Amino acid sequence: PESKLPALGTTIFTQMSQLAQQHQAINLSQGFPDFDGPRYLQERLAFHVANGANQYAPMTGVQALREAIADKTAGLYGHKPDANTDITVTAGATEALYAAITALVRPGDEVICFDPSYDSYAPAVTLSGGVLKRIALQPPFFRVDWEEFATLLSPRTRLVILNTPHNPSATVWRKSDYAALWQAIKQHEVYVLSDEVYEHICFAEEGHASVLAHPQLRERAVAVSSFGKTFHMTGWKVGYCVAPAALSAELRKVHQYLTFAVNTPAQLAIADMLRAQPEHYRELPDFYRARRDRFVQALADSRFEILPCEGTYFLLADYSAISDLDDVSFCQWLTKEVGVAAIPLSVFCADPFPHKLIRLCFAKQEATLDAAAERLCKV
Ligand code: PMP
Ligand code: GLN
Repeated sequence: PESKLPALGTTIFTQMSQLAQQHQAINLSQGFPDFDGPRYLQERLAFHVANGANQYAPMTGVQALREAIADKTAGLYGHKPDANTDITVTAGATEALYAAITALVRPGDEVICFDPSYDSYAPAVTLSGGVLKRIALQPPFFRVDWEEFATLLSPRTRLVILNTPHNPSATVWRKSDYAALWQAIKQHEVYVLSDEVYEHICFAEEGHASVLAHPQLRERAVAVSSFGKTFHMTGWKVGYCVAPAALSAELRKVHQYLTFAVNTPAQLAIADMLRAQPEHYRELPDFYRARRDRFVQALADSRFEILPCEGTYFLLADYSAISDLDDVSFCQWLTKEVGVAAIPLSVFCADPFPHKLIRLCFAKQEATLDAAAERLCKV
């Protein structure tokens, strides 16, 4: 058939994980922990399965989970979304992003995003007939130039997609970024899709800046999160989005025919977990900071230059001192010859990306990180 996405191949995450497996490399490419999530969460899943919570969940998500999310949001960002009208549980953040883009973007609409950008945004925009306008952010800090942003706004701009803490750059937005965004779009009918799946993995002193903490922007925003990251359970594929009632209503029209509803016992277990052990997500920055610092320390004697990491469980490494290869070739070489798989950054960018940067996932056991660092120090 004639492809609707002719330029697209298989996602880099699948490609690199397969290559890692083929060469038995340490897989620091696709982002997932090599350790398990909380025992309590697993026990609650088993409990709910044994107690017959095995039929369809409500289309919008189980009540107990939506209420727990509303309370968590109120505690963190000073805004309590309505559990009935503003919160929708989705099959991972991936579904929330797709549903939001599909609900909001009409043929010919322009969507602004920031490169490097997570790879699921662009195909969803394309399938909705939208036109992506991409701003190239520059290492090492990947800050948004708000004057440049203003030049991209047009009467056709419909949506801005942001991501903080940012995958893959590991940088975070400041409150001042939201203030600048609001100044830029307030006169226009522009919506905001805020991908905050790493909201609990933020090392910045001022903490995670959520769009939900901005009183004006949140009236136009869909904020997306994922329990896969928060509870070390990427395979559970439970995420959610928070948006004002009118926006949520549109998004739910898509969600109900995309998946209809999400795994019932997993939702109940996560609701229990949020209520019983809120310290899990409160302690997550310390948990991952320790891993980040250990890995950075272990790489200190390598020829990689490590970039600052303010959030997410990814670290950027510059290999200019090691090789002239482009980043895709370098990652393949590193996997096959050195036994460490990483993600090249150029795949997240529309424009040619002249930098020599790779992304390493440090959501790994200490032994895994030490073994990977030992190999990386030899190149
Ligand atoms: N957005 C970003 C920035 C991500 O890094 C990921 C997953 N790594 C997702 C969305 C998708 O999350 P999920 O696995 O919950 O679908
Ligand atoms: N988001 C994860 C990453 O950035 C991968 C998710 C996926 O494999 N689709 O590595």
